[in-house]
Amino acid sequence: MDYFNYVDGELHIEGVAARHIAEEHGSPVYVYSAQTFRDHFAVLENAFAGIAPLICFSVKSCSNLSVLKLLVDQGCGLDVVSGGELFRALKAGAPADKIVFAGVGKSRDELVQAIDAGVFLFNAESEAELLRIDAVASAAGKRVKAAIRVNPDVADADTPEKTSTGGRQTKFGVPIERADVLFEAGRYSNVDVVGIHIHLGSPIPAAKTYLAAIDKVEQMVDRLEAGGRQIEFINVGGGFPAQYRTEAKPVCSLTDMGDAICTRLQGLKARGKHFIIEPGRSISANAGILLTTVEYIKQGWERKIAIVDAGMNVLLRPTLYGASHVIWPARFNRFGGHWTALPREDALADAGLEAIDIVGPICETGDYFALGHALPVLGGGDLLAIYSCGAYGMSMASQYNSRGRPAEVMVDGGKARVIRTRENHADLVAHELCGLTGAHHAG
Ligand SMILES: *Cc1c(COP(=O)(O)O)cnc(C)c1O
Repeated sequence: MDYFNYVDGELHIEGVAARHIAEEHGSPVYVYSAQTFRDHFAVLENAFAGIAPLICFSVKSCSNLSVLKLLVDQGCGLDVVSGGELFRALKAGAPADKIVFAGVGKSRDELVQAIDAGVFLFNAESEAELLRIDAVASAAGKRVKAAIRVNPDVADADTPEKTSTGGRQTKFGVPIERADVLFEAGRYSNVDVVGIHIHLGSPIPAAKTYLAAIDKVEQMVDRLEAGGRQIEFINVGGGFPAQYRTEAKPVCSLTDMGDAICTRLQGLKARGKHFIIEPGRSISANAGILLTTVEYIKQGWERKIAIVDAGMNVLLRPTLYGASHVIWPARFNRFGGHWTALPREDALADAGLEAIDIVGPICETGDYFALGHALPVLGGGDLLAIYSCGAYGMSMASQYNSRGRPAEVMVDGGKARVIRTRENHADLVAHELCGLTGAHHAG
């Protein structure tokens, strides 16, 4: 988060004071750094230069049109998992031949839409789905390409259970031992099955997890090609880590991870394979923060509690995944400099801070961002920054408790621009009818 800095004790995003953004655009508000998105895309391009993959940003991690457009302008492709995401991708100007379509349950309508748009590659997750893709493509008189998402039965012990997708107990992909048959020549009239896709989950902190899965994929390529089939694409998926903690040195560097994966893939590269990766959080997580304001402080049985104006409807990760985010006041005159200079979790107690629960206004016990978090003494009106919220923040936000979703602001070149307006009360009921006797209702 190089563009999120404390200057004279005040958090700035690309030189714009967080406090000014909250004053002008309200609180809570998501704030992104455009340059961070660009930098992270460049870091991945360099890290994976050894296989020169098509990089398809995972739209579900951060779906705002301006974010997608910014990345598309850098030459990035997009990974979509629904017809809605495909609509966004096309609206953001992504060329269809840089869009891959994943997801376990693509509907017929979504397939019609995607085939009509001419997406580059379908990541198919079952034989039933391939049959449906084939039927839709045939009806449209088109030929399409598909990769099979295989389930390699490889899981990283450090990936949270709810976001681990490569193991045998999950719904994802086709068990790798049963997938070969789907590549048989002539099995489908209008689908060319030419790729193998894996996505092991999020985040995958260790390169060795990818390498273990790639071993199995390479064996599969060997088997298929010995049988006369030709594989064109290997899609390594996403899940490359982001930095969620304050250590100055990340737990795992993307450069090291990319190097290890590229080295392992050189044999397949020499055989003419093309590669795809689908990074989400490694591009978006550290490109965004959530600003939220303390409404009240109260003393609970055990600890002080700060009630802030963002709830789990705004940021779901802490309660859904047990995710921990760095939280720090946007204005504070100690530990200044950079977010990695904020006190580490194990040093907080010595820093004269107090443990406090940071909770939202939603009527749920699970509506919290941190429990017993060490922070400077807070008061009502204080503005807090919740770091590393660019991925799976706004894209998971809801209107629960009839609270509108917050605004999103992008800072670029010293200017803060609204890229999504705050939802108002009319937005909450825009799709609803009031009673069954209204003019819209027949009879
Ligand atoms: C969610 C997802 C990704 C992105 O995961 P990150 O952890 O954000 O990188 C990539 N590919 C597929 C198929 C996904 O479902």
